[in-house]
Amino acid sequence: MSDLAELCGYRIELLVQGFPGKSLENGGLGWSSVVLLRGQGRVILVDTGSFSVRRTLLARLAERGLSRHDVTDVLLTHAHYDHMMNWTLFPNASVAIGAAELDHALSEPIETSLGAELYVSALAASPQLRRLTPGEEALPGLTAIEAPGHTPHHLVFVLDDGSARVILAADAVKNRAELLAVSGVSTQDSAASATTIARIGALWRERPGAILVCGHDLPLVNDGADGTYLGARRAGILCWFGAEPGDTRQIALVAASECPPEQGPTA
Ligand SMILES: [Zn+2]
Repeated sequence: MSDLAELCGYRIELLVQGFPGKSLENGGLGWSSVVLLRGQGRVILVDTGSFSVRRTLLARLAERGLSRHDVTDVLLTHAHYDHMMNWTLFPNASVAIGAAELDHALSEPIETSLGAELYVSALAASPQLRRLTPGEEALPGLTAIEAPGHTPHHLVFVLDDGSARVILAADAVKNRAELLAVSGVSTQDSAASATTIARIGALWRERPGAILVCGHDLPLVNDGADGTYLGARRAGILCWFGAEPGDTRQIALVAASECPPEQGPTA
């Protein structure tokens, strides 16, 4: 995974890449971005992914000499299952989420909610919980701004030292297509999403070189145009379509333009 920036006293890394895709027949895919910040005496995760990414998350922390016990702070953008389920991995962390977002998640009907209800209710009762208010400095150098639409009280975290800017947008701007079209899909309020995407897009365009970390895509650098992806996409699935376990097929989940020349989209 890639280093994103050194900013506001933090080394900022993309620990897990988000992926701009949706499963058609088998339930949600939910491959979301997880960001690690180290500095100011803290180890911070912004979002923690879904249950399925747990081993990957721990392995990527271990590659950096970190265990789950070293994480001091978790910042959650919203209460959806694919962004928050692993908060329980970090017993020494303060776990912050927007107060209104948490209250909304607690009140949602189970049939339609993307919230992981038991993880949400456990967080609400946990001494680790810290309730955030929009506009507050969530941690030194990280400002929480409310970004409604995808959920009514989704938070976006912004780092800015006066010359550089990193925007941790999560599902307020899920992917590059939403950014460029100024329109969100899978949103609880389409009009609010469009307003939010326009506002976050303006924050990103205001600063040359600013980095936008989408919830389900590669990060985008402001190049003065439509944005340049930071890093190479890595996503794929291994399939057992054959008659024995060694007979596998790898399917790379990348755009045709992202494939090495010798390799097609399926390899
Ligand atoms: Zn979401």
